[in-house]
Amino acid sequence: MNRSRRQFMQTGALAAGSAIALRSRRAWSLASTDLAVTPPLSVFDYAQVQLLEGHLREQFDRNHDVFLHLSEDAMLKPFRERSGMPAPGPDMGGWYDNADDFNPPENFHAFIPGHSFGQYLSGLARAYAVTGDKATQEKVHRLVRGFGETVEPSGKFYVDYHLPAYTYDKTSCGLIDAHEFAKCPDALDVHWRATKAALPFLPEKALSRAEQRARPHKMVADTWDETYTLPENFFLAYLRSGKSEYSDLAKRFIEEDYFGPLAEGHNALVGEHAYSHVNALSSAMQSYLVLGDEKYLRAATNGLRMVHEQSYATGGWGPNEAFVEPGRGLLDESLGTTHASFETPCGAYGHFKITRYLLRVTRDSRYGDSMERVLLNTIAGATPTLADGTTFYYSDYNREAVKVHYRDKWPCCSGTFPQLTADYGISSYYKSADGIYVNLFVPSRVLWSQNSTQCTLTQTTAYPRENTSTLQVGLQRPESFTVCVRIPGWSSSKNSVSVNGKAIEAAIEPGKFLAIQRSWKDGDRIELEFDMPLRLEAIDEQNKDNVALVRGPLALFAVGNIPKRITRAQLLAARVAASSSDDWKVDTDKGAMTLRPFAAIMSEQYRLYNRVNA
Ligand SMILES: [Zn+2]
Repeated sequence: MNRSRRQFMQTGALAAGSAIALRSRRAWSLASTDLAVTPPLSVFDYAQVQLLEGHLREQFDRNHDVFLHLSEDAMLKPFRERSGMPAPGPDMGGWYDNADDFNPPENFHAFIPGHSFGQYLSGLARAYAVTGDKATQEKVHRLVRGFGETVEPSGKFYVDYHLPAYTYDKTSCGLIDAHEFAKCPDALDVHWRATKAALPFLPEKALSRAEQRARPHKMVADTWDETYTLPENFFLAYLRSGKSEYSDLAKRFIEEDYFGPLAEGHNALVGEHAYSHVNALSSAMQSYLVLGDEKYLRAATNGLRMVHEQSYATGGWGPNEAFVEPGRGLLDESLGTTHASFETPCGAYGHFKITRYLLRVTRDSRYGDSMERVLLNTIAGATPTLADGTTFYYSDYNREAVKVHYRDKWPCCSGTFPQLTADYGISSYYKSADGIYVNLFVPSRVLWSQNSTQCTLTQTTAYPRENTSTLQVGLQRPESFTVCVRIPGWSSSKNSVSVNGKAIEAAIEPGKFLAIQRSWKDGDRIELEFDMPLRLEAIDEQNKDNVALVRGPLALFAVGNIPKRITRAQLLAARVAASSSDDWKVDTDKGAMTLRPFAAIMSEQYRLYNRVNA
């Protein structure tokens, strides 16, 4: 790079840095005394990490664009109608509408009116924080004002409403994000009014689904509410507003009957709704951070370990949205009985959140491995949400699988998808006291201040198609800090890491972060090369001959003609089909079989697990 070009890029980065300083100034300063536990790693502000050109950036841009152009009248319509206000504009359709024809399981129209409004608001607020786009910020402010007008003290909205906590919790998240990330001046006031209006419709404590079924109810949907996911956002509302009432509410809804057994190592997941119970682990983590009780950390750690123990090779979990009983071969059974194998945007969103919390607290790189697996094999392959609410929902791991859109418009997954894609950047890097952690290998740039020196790290990579990534340092002046790079647990002793072309001397251990401490200067380059061995992963202990072929972080799905007879040796001899191709070839007795990653699959039928004969 010539000198003037480098100087230009640096000046650009510094200008972006001052914009960040302005945008990240907080209306409520968050004193560290508010938290009982300060994790050793913190997340960057959204503006500090920019995704560069590539598939993940496209997913983010596309979601941003869809929600930026969504009709505000349509988004507000259920709230206006239920509070008796004039409600102009079109209906959104699907789950979102306010109508009286909801009749499960046949008809899910008008299932939960306005349920995902808060998530669309949250996704937009985060997208503003990433991009600084004024039109996005103004939309967030208008939506908060419009929503605020519909909140009236009697909580009319929630009268005869099937899932009040579910919708309130999402609204809560949207409003605190509008405040925190889009600097919306009235969001906290609206949040407090909305909370007081919803409270009479919430139970006295967190209720499991079994408890809800045991209580009188008008219809089955009245037993599907999710009060046990509330504490995370109540604690965040407390931290962002300073109102102790939110902390009291968070404590009131901590589901001790779930976290207690998990903390003791008992599997409390079996039979439970998968996404909401993973999401509740993030409530355990906020409880740990605010209250300091290690029981909640143990609950989250054990809970996620139990999720890992019944995950597919993609990192996805929860066939038919439920956790299975381990040790009975039920995951294998699901491959022949359901196409609803993993609730992808919601599941990946929940998975990212809990792995982000645990990574920050423990600095254990295996949580980064887990996040990466879910990223590359599930959500990266989700088809885009369309402007009419057409949404990708389930990943299908059936023996005869295809990608489809969900039956109903605007389901839950339409809400978590824009939140998750806005979170890609902040999930990729973390700040430590003496430097930076590199967690995901994605084209991106992170900008931060180290001992008052403005620093950038620019990552260039075609990972995971290629097994390399380059990190280039940008600095005003030489500065000492530590760059910790995740060395994936699936890699081998054949990895290499070099700085400015010279292999580093420290041992490179898979499954750990590698710390590179030095006095860095502008233009220094870290080059990573990971060995990505092929391996076979069995669906479960009871079915060891039913295997997925996995290369490094990437599960490979068979497409086209799949021969009846395949051997382990044949799968493990897979070779890349052509340079710059995502496809892999396996030679079998009946000719070549093609395999490809989830993100490269379009409308063709595919299969994740193949039974091997030898
Ligand atoms: Zn969903």
